Amino acid sequence: MKSLLALSLLLAAGVAWAQMSVPAGLTPGSMSRVSPLLQAQRFAENFEPALAHPEQARAVKAKLEALRARTGAPPNILLLIVDDMGYGDTGAYGGGESLGAPTPHIDRLAREGLKLTSAYAQPSCTPTRAALNTGRLPVRSGLLKPAMLNDKADISNEILAAKLLSNAGYHTGLSGKWHLGEMDGTRPWQVGFDEFEGFLGVVNSYQEEHPSAPDVANDPVLQAMLRSMPGDRSLWRATKTGGGKALETINWENSRDLDQKFADFSADFIRRAVQQGKPFYLSHNFSKVHYFNMPSADFVGRSATKDVYRDSVVEVDAIVGRLVALLEELEIADNTLVFFTSDNGPEEDSYPDTGVTPFRGAKGMTTEGGVRVPGLFWWPGVIKGGRVSDGLFDLTDMFNTSLALAGVDVTAAIPADRYIDGIDQTGFLLADDGQSAREAIYYYNADMFAGVRWRYYKMALNELQVGSGTHRDFGGLDNVQLMTPTNGYMYNLYLDPRERKSVLIKKGWVPSYALGPLMAVHLGTMAKYPPEVAIRMR
Ligand code: CA
Repeated sequence: MKSLLALSLLLAAGVAWAQMSVPAGLTPGSMSRVSPLLQAQRFAENFEPALAHPEQARAVKAKLEALRARTGAPPNILLLIVDDMGYGDTGAYGGGESLGAPTPHIDRLAREGLKLTSAYAQPSCTPTRAALNTGRLPVRSGLLKPAMLNDKADISNEILAAKLLSNAGYHTGLSGKWHLGEMDGTRPWQVGFDEFEGFLGVVNSYQEEHPSAPDVANDPVLQAMLRSMPGDRSLWRATKTGGGKALETINWENSRDLDQKFADFSADFIRRAVQQGKPFYLSHNFSKVHYFNMPSADFVGRSATKDVYRDSVVEVDAIVGRLVALLEELEIADNTLVFFTSDNGPEEDSYPDTGVTPFRGAKGMTTEGGVRVPGLFWWPGVIKGGRVSDGLFDLTDMFNTSLALAGVDVTAAIPADRYIDGIDQTGFLLADDGQSAREAIYYYNADMFAGVRWRYYKMALNELQVGSGTHRDFGGLDNVQLMTPTNGYMYNLYLDPRERKSVLIKKGWVPSYALGPLMAVHLGTMAKYPPEVAIRMR
């Protein structure tokens, strides 16, 4: 009887699992109460359960205390976030030289630091940036889709890591792309960043006259209409105390120099923070390699193929090298955590102005190609060089990890009415043989719950698949169709990293006892802490 019940549950995997009542997993205690396969501990009702690794926690605590005694200051945090870079673009992840665009500076971070092979973003820009800044999945904040020109995206009700870090004495800055709202009251300097230089949306919004779209670029009537449309196209310079000033209007021609300007600003920001003797938290957000890529003059023709995308990869790599060299010049590299990542998979709609992923799908999809991103951590003397880990890491984890490094008590800082999906990963990242504190990854496509990963098993309840036809091998937003399998798909991501064959019936027995309860508890948190947006199951 028991096995028949299990089978019926298995066949109804997905919604049926989610509708199970599992209140035990929602209160402080071990997830083993809902499944013997699960081990994470929930330490507070509104915080995601985390795997406890007491020995590595002790080792990292001792390491950080010794460093603090030597430097006398809390560590700096530098986030390097590329837009739409593919998992496979850099040499560290199999690209680089093999794609005609060597990335020696990014590869160095991997060689001398920690390379993650299961770092997860959301399927597109705004949701990922919301998750990274708030530690919360986008359904909770309502920032579900890329904000367009004149969009009403609003993050002002959220608590950003930058705000808590600024309150804790950090000098906080955002350089480059924001994409979390352009309305007054929602801008970076109004929600937690002490300084900002950049734009509020996404670069292609400002490139209407780009010559690759001659139907628009060469039509004066259309151009006049476009220019009359509301929306913020400014390059801003702002401080929390002094407010913002629009420096210039961005267009396709001057967009080529944006990343060099952002690099100048970031370098200046770091120098000034050091001169002031303040720890800094700097989120450096590249405009590149989002289409339409426009390499700056020094980088035109620098890749083997001399195309705009690969030239821009070379430019991004050079800027990473420049900022890392500055940390060394200022002798603060040993007290700075550097994190390099991308905000989603490659944007295949804009081929050939696009990156590469070894996984199935691309930006806009919850198959691995859309959400698996590079994740490199570099901190000489603290992170052991040459580490590689497939431990699970979600970009929401940077919220908790940054606060932990700064000594901010996150449970005291976050009101009990909101749920935090991020997990403190300092032990994983900094211990010489650190293990991830994360037991599961949850996949969402906008407001649709799409599935869960536990170990190397993934259960997909909904899947955006690449459609058949003339674009059959390309992912992206243009050519995808929603598949809602009756029983869900189950993939073994080690044996089948491209998610080609569901093994639900053949191999689903054991993993279902973890994946099902994980989904049920996760969706239970949504019932307990109602998100901004109602979640669609199918
Ligand atoms: Ca993006």
